[in-house]
Amino acid sequence: MPISENARAVLERRYLIRDEHGEAVETVDELFHRVADAVAAADVRFDPQADVADTARSFYRMMTELDFLPNSPTLMNAGRPLGQLSACFVLPVADSMEDIFDAIKNAALIHKSGGGTGFSFSRLRAKGSTVNSTGGVASGPISFMKVFNAATEAVKQGGTRRGANMGILRVDHPDILEFITCKNDTKEITNFNISVGLTESFMEAVESDGSYELVDPASRRVTGRLNAREVFEAIVRSAWQTGEPGILFLDRLNKDNPCPGQGEIESTNPCGEQPLLPYEACNLGSINLVRHLRRTGTGYALDRAKLEQTIRTAVHFLDNVIEVNQYPLPEIDAMTKKTRKIGLGVMGFADMLLYLGIPYDSDEGVAMASQVMELVQTIGHQESQRLAQVRGPFPLFAESVYRDGAPLRNATVTTIAPTGTLSIIAGVSSGVEPVFAYAYYRNVMDNTHLIETNQILRDKLTELGLYSDELMRQIIEHGSLAHVEGIPEAVKRVFVCAHDVSPIWHVKMQAAFQQFTDNAVSKTVNFPNSATQEEVAEVYRLAYELGCKGTTIYRDGSRDEQVLNIGVDK
Ligand code: UDP
Repeated sequence: MPISENARAVLERRYLIRDEHGEAVETVDELFHRVADAVAAADVRFDPQADVADTARSFYRMMTELDFLPNSPTLMNAGRPLGQLSACFVLPVADSMEDIFDAIKNAALIHKSGGGTGFSFSRLRAKGSTVNSTGGVASGPISFMKVFNAATEAVKQGGTRRGANMGILRVDHPDILEFITCKNDTKEITNFNISVGLTESFMEAVESDGSYELVDPASRRVTGRLNAREVFEAIVRSAWQTGEPGILFLDRLNKDNPCPGQGEIESTNPCGEQPLLPYEACNLGSINLVRHLRRTGTGYALDRAKLEQTIRTAVHFLDNVIEVNQYPLPEIDAMTKKTRKIGLGVMGFADMLLYLGIPYDSDEGVAMASQVMELVQTIGHQESQRLAQVRGPFPLFAESVYRDGAPLRNATVTTIAPTGTLSIIAGVSSGVEPVFAYAYYRNVMDNTHLIETNQILRDKLTELGLYSDELMRQIIEHGSLAHVEGIPEAVKRVFVCAHDVSPIWHVKMQAAFQQFTDNAVSKTVNFPNSATQEEVAEVYRLAYELGCKGTTIYRDGSRDEQVLNIGVDK
């Protein structure tokens, strides 16, 4: 197995089954057998003669070769009593005490099993409006978000991993201004990512410098008007200051809603890549692109034949996951099986470009993104069609936007996940992000610092006879190769990191992947600390123009605690 020591440590710490004393009772190898066997077992439901052992072998091989990995809950829970295998959920929050606290309870059950939850709070009546039953005054969406947050905090300790939430508020909700700065004003919403749900009419009002109406969701009455540009600027200012809120283009999510008869899509999962209907869940999986290169005389090229094969096996795998998944609520079980959404994506994209010698921030890099994702989308849909012939289309197919075409097994097939943990296990760059840093210090016991270097850079510099610890120290100090002397320009041009890539190229890359993705693309647009608010606004407008479904930005140093710090491994 090409699994690194680091990956093994992550798997051992977080994924292996443990006994009551906390001792691991399975090996990494047994983990992958457990997952492969449990997921392959679904085949007999559709064909009693199916060769389940053969399918299990192909799933096992695909995972242990690190060609593909399913999302963390599948690795943790497949073949175990809990059996909850999805990373993404969206729960409805209706405007009553019963419904609000039901949603909190349901979210707790999902967090316990390693899933993340998204909510729209747009249906909650505005702060200050009346409560009929008591004659009291409503406290508004933001006050309830704090309760959701506290519940998440409490479940944190006992669960398989930290619960994560997405909170959405429509831009025409009367409490929108309070929402935009809510994470700056209090530390009580730390377990949430927040995004403003922008509408098409709002974007038009920004364009024409007009005003728009605020509507109380309970009474449907217009409660006021705001200048669209001022609200847009407030969003930009807050995102510039703290990285939040993100933005989400709600009408665009709904334009791509495959089953509009089921109601509106109001929210995504916590990291924004998976729009879902209320009570829908989705399981994700990511193909490791680095494992889909073949050697040529002079370097590397994309191995399309191998990639096609992995896409087919991965779609089969993810469709099986829906079958063997044990959902935390009957409503989720029912809804998820009506649409059978899966989210196949990629990781290690930036690393692949390094092998190919293509800069991330170039037309060639963007063309490569389109080429790879078009293949995943096309072959993924083909495989879903093949499964539909054997297993039947997803139950809502006849009322879906696909009804006039070939039957599909899954209402959506593709999603680009962040692959936070998966990319560590696979030892590659995460999702479709550029490499964050090429070298950093790792703190080991007794306070010594080890230099960790990106293996592809290390190999390149060694090949050129240039590798030295001193050179690595300079890269760590500068945070990038760009201003380090003694590295050839041609190497610098290819080995760009997230901070070398200008925000515009981040957006272009996101848009290229979005064009061939059914769901959405997890992507952060990185800005240097010196970036202006106008530059952030420009990126938001570009994301809208280029057809992205939303954006998240981060300006270096703008939050007290940064997850990743150049130069220091925390
Ligand atoms: N997620 C979560 N808690 C976490 C990390 C992730 O609930 O600590 C969920 C969330 O819905 C996120 C999705 O898992 O959008 C995918 O995240 P990622 O790809 O980073 O997960 P991985 O499978 O790599 O652990």
